[in-house]
Amino acid sequence: MSKTSEKIESVVSQGRVKLHIFEPSKRKIWTVVGMGEEHWLDPDLDYCSCPGYYFGKLNKKQGCYHLEAAIVAKKENKFETISFLDEEYADFVAGLISDL
Ligand SMILES: [Zn+2]
Repeated sequence: MSKTSEKIESVVSQGRVKLHIFEPSKRKIWTVVGMGEEHWLDPDLDYCSCPGYYFGKLNKKQGCYHLEAAIVAKKENKFETISFLDEEYADFVAGLISDL
């Protein structure tokens, strides 16, 4: 197994892929907790907020392990779901952005 697939495996098995669902609109935000920080990503749009993703796309035309972990977790149904209210959406997004 490669280092990357080990990383993906541990992120998924430790439940570090999280789906935040906002009620009642059912808006969704995916995050993956990496090495101490949480990254905002979108497996449907193939996007992650981490620098590894950004530079990987620029140089090697490939994504990061967060995104791959989210895709695996989604497929295997191994993510943690957390419910929020729509009123909390703006604060939640602001909190993620301020961490970037
Ligand atoms: Zn990433």
